[in-house]
Amino acid sequence: MSSDDAVQSTNDDAAHCKRFAVSQGYWKDPYLQYFVKSSDRKAPEISRGYFARVSGVKLLLRQFIQLTKSGCQIVNLGAGFDTLYWLLQDEGLSPRNFTEIDFQGITSKKCYYIKSRKQLLEKIAKEDGEISFNSFDLHAANYHIVAADLRDVAQVTRKLHEAGIDPKLPTAFIAECVLVYMETSKTEALLKYFADHFHTAFFINYEQVNMEDRFGEVMLQNLRIRHCDLQGVPACRSLDTQKNRFLQNGWEGADAVTMNTLYGLLPQHEVQRIEKLEFMDEQELLQQLFDHYCLCWAYKDHKKLGLKNISL
Ligand code: SAM
Repeated sequence: MSSDDAVQSTNDDAAHCKRFAVSQGYWKDPYLQYFVKSSDRKAPEISRGYFARVSGVKLLLRQFIQLTKSGCQIVNLGAGFDTLYWLLQDEGLSPRNFTEIDFQGITSKKCYYIKSRKQLLEKIAKEDGEISFNSFDLHAANYHIVAADLRDVAQVTRKLHEAGIDPKLPTAFIAECVLVYMETSKTEALLKYFADHFHTAFFINYEQVNMEDRFGEVMLQNLRIRHCDLQGVPACRSLDTQKNRFLQNGWEGADAVTMNTLYGLLPQHEVQRIEKLEFMDEQELLQQLFDHYCLCWAYKDHKKLGLKNISL
């Protein structure tokens, strides 16, 4: 298996973990079942981790969409089988354009599943019902899937253009467990490209952090066993290294919290609800895990929408 294949297989993991968490009631996602039929049982700390990650990303994104009054675009980098497009639509929070980018091997499967599922298709259909597909790209009214390698900025630029992304509109970029697989120089080039061309923009990055202690080393070892190149790890050293790569590549401001902090900031009635779903005696393990993942966000606010006020 090549390293890029190994990286793509991490999407299976993410999708299966989310599927199991949804089946246990951590959050609602009626669309994931069309991409992943079922999943083996996962440890409760994994499900709580996904719950915190999904909740944190949504909390930030919702504020961005509301500040822009939905006159915005969302670009999901390394989107895998994420179902956010459908979930936002159900909440009445559809942006003007929602574009997903991933490797061809992933987008072709996603296009195939969408093509064969009425429940997914009917929500992306243009008013005249027209959707254009090839084997790995999809273009509908405000939903696009494009195949590109994020390490290739020229290809990403071309594909975003094909998807109708307008750099003048407020744009949120999301990357969940994606940048860690890219050389830091390639990530920096991508972040700088976005900062240089999108003047009102918000970036949400969920990723590993504090990777230099013993627990971090074990986490990395587990990923390396699966032949994943982890060339982005230097940026996962600390919350500061996470923030600095934005600040040093043209972004105006950035903030970051570990998942322990984030978990404490989530609506406590929700936390209490999910903590009753499954018994978990490994409280310390959860805390350690949460100390090794973070949510980092960054903004550029040329239109002065107040993006710096977005917080958890
Ligand atoms: N973001 C999704 C989620 O949270 O469910 C999927 C996460 S999965 C761990 C990482 C995804 O990033 C995979 O789908 C993988 O193919 C994609 N990815 C990693 N490196 C990439 C690259 N250079 N170009 C395009 N996609 C990439």
